[in-house]
Amino acid sequence: MRYATTRAVVLSSRPLGEADRWLTLFTRDQGRIDAVVKGVRRTTSRWGGRLEPFNVCDLVLYRGRTRATVTSAQLVDVFRHLREDREALTAAAVGCEAAALLFAEGEPEERVFALLRSGLREIDAGFHGPATGAPLVLGFLVKLLYEAGYLPVLDRCASCGAGGRALAFSAARGGLVCGDCLGDGVPITPEAIAALHAAVALPLAELRAAPPSAAVEEALRDLHLLFAYHAGTRLRALRFARL
Ligand SMILES: [Zn+2]
Repeated sequence: MRYATTRAVVLSSRPLGEADRWLTLFTRDQGRIDAVVKGVRRTTSRWGGRLEPFNVCDLVLYRGRTRATVTSAQLVDVFRHLREDREALTAAAVGCEAAALLFAEGEPEERVFALLRSGLREIDAGFHGPATGAPLVLGFLVKLLYEAGYLPVLDRCASCGAGGRALAFSAARGGLVCGDCLGDGVPITPEAIAALHAAVALPLAELRAAPPSAAVEEALRDLHLLFAYHAGTRLRALRFARL
């Protein structure tokens, strides 16, 4: 089938030539897909304007020989509240940018689609910033890393496997490390370790209700190192936060 219908989260949108846009989508049944939407200026009044980042749409995709093209879009979810809050926008951008970088094109990942949608929904439902200290952002990122196979090791030393007290976090070795294995690890506080455990264990709805803290910010800095180690780049969404 050259035409396919799919539900998708719009992860990003950037200009392509004078009238087109290049979209990165996360679809429910085909995973990440890059696609072109043509003549957005002409179609804005009809449906091109629906393909904004963070929107969830039902799309018809045409599969050409070299690229996919969106030929129609129906809105499913518009997260209006998150667009009115800069910190909520940063939180949403962390999730969408991370998903675009962690998953290869065309690998079906229905759980990731569901995670993206529920993450955006929770952010939209009322976000307690700043984004860099928010348990919901830490949870969103750690759950995406889990789906990509990069869950940090938190229950033992990631280097020697010993169960003693963790003193540092090492992105290269994949998690917490003990006093004998410090190496390239950055020191970590017990509070930040607890924040990472909570981010893994608790559902996003519970993390949304938890207040921002310095411990979460420290944990997000470490988790961002782990993300960058695997993705090969840092998140632009966090560049102003210097995380
Ligand atoms: Zn060790």
